[in-house]
Amino acid sequence: MQARTLALGLGALLLFVGVAQGDVPWVIQHVDLQEELSLSDFHISPQERAVAIQNTTINLNPGGGISGNAPALAAFGRAAQNWQNVLGDSITLNINIDMASLGTGILGSAGSNSYYSGFNTIRDLVSGGADTGSAAEAATLGYLPTGSQFSAYVPTGFDLPGFMEATRANLLALGVPQSSLGGLGTSDGTITFSTNFAWDYDNSDGVTPGTHSFESVATHEIGHILGFSSEVDYADYVLNQGGTGSLYPRPLDLFRFSAGSVPTTTSQFTNNSRDLMPGGTDYFSYIDGTIQMSTGRYNGDGQQASHWKDSLGLGIMDPTLATGEISLIGSNDLMAMDLIGWQIVPEPATLSLLAVGGLALIRRRRAA
Ligand SMILES: [Zn+2]
Repeated sequence: MQARTLALGLGALLLFVGVAQGDVPWVIQHVDLQEELSLSDFHISPQERAVAIQNTTINLNPGGGISGNAPALAAFGRAAQNWQNVLGDSITLNINIDMASLGTGILGSAGSNSYYSGFNTIRDLVSGGADTGSAAEAATLGYLPTGSQFSAYVPTGFDLPGFMEATRANLLALGVPQSSLGGLGTSDGTITFSTNFAWDYDNSDGVTPGTHSFESVATHEIGHILGFSSEVDYADYVLNQGGTGSLYPRPLDLFRFSAGSVPTTTSQFTNNSRDLMPGGTDYFSYIDGTIQMSTGRYNGDGQQASHWKDSLGLGIMDPTLATGEISLIGSNDLMAMDLIGWQIVPEPATLSLLAVGGLALIRRRRAA
C-alpha cells in the first residue's frame, strides 16, 4: 500500500502530492477543515460512554504551539478519551496536535494521513469488517458493490480510475498491518487549533458565552482522522479551481447517495450509484435509515461534504459549532464509524437508548 498526500482545503489550499495513477499502493492526504459546530440532539453522556470497553489507544503528540498550554492539553486528552471510550479496535493511533494562527473563520484543521489501493482491496476490508450484533452492518456490508458493480455520479470531466482511499487510522481499524502502510511513519495526522479564537478548555462547568468549546472541536477533528471524510470535498475543491481529476472514493462514500437514489433494498444498495457530485441533496444510507450530509463548500450547500448536514443536531460531525455550545459524539456518528470499519462498544443498536439519557443530561445542564 502507498501513501497519498493531498491537502483538502476548506477555503484553504489543497496540496495534492500525488502518486502516479498507475501505482497501486497508498497515498497521503491532508484536509484542512473550517469548523464551527452546533449542538446535536443525540448525545451520549461521558458517564454512559465510560461503561464502554476501551481498546483503542490514541496518543497525542503536542507541538511547540500547544505544549505549554496545560488546559488545552487536558481538553485534548478528554477529546481523545471520548473516542477511546467507544472504539473497540485494539490498535494505537498517533496524532500530532498544535495551535497556530489559522485563517479567518477557521477554528481548527485536521490533516489525515491516508492511503489508497485498488478499489476491491479496501472495499473487501470494509465488507469484511462486520462485528457480531450490528444490525446495520449485517444489512449493508455484505452488499457493498465490488469494483465492477460500483458506479457513482461524478462531475463532468472527472473519472473513477478504480481506487479507493482511506485514512491510516481507518485502515488500521480494518485490520491492515502497520507494516503495509509505509511512507508516513506511524502518524495518523495533524490537528491544529487556531490561536485567533477565545477557547473554553473545560466543558464541565459549561462553555463561557462568546467562546468555543475546545474539547468539542478536538473531538470533531479526531473524527475526521478516524475516517469521517468524503472524496466529494476533493472534487469540490478541484472544481472550484476550474480543474478536473480522478476520484478515489472513501469508505464513507460507499454509503453516500443522492436523494433520488437512496436504496431501500440490499439489491439497490449494491447497484444504485453513489453520489460524488458536490451539491444536490445527499444522504448517508444504511438501508434501514438515512442521515443527511453536507454537500460541499464551493459548489454545494456551503459546508464541506465530509460532515453531516449543518445545524440539524445530527452529531459531532456537524460542520459548525456555535459559541457557548458543547457537541458530543452521538448515535449517528457511531453508526457511520461502525459501518466504515470501527468496532463500536457497545454496538450502535444499544446506543440509541443511551443517547436518550445523554440528551436528558445535556438539557439539564443547559437549564441549570
Ligand atoms: Zn469538520
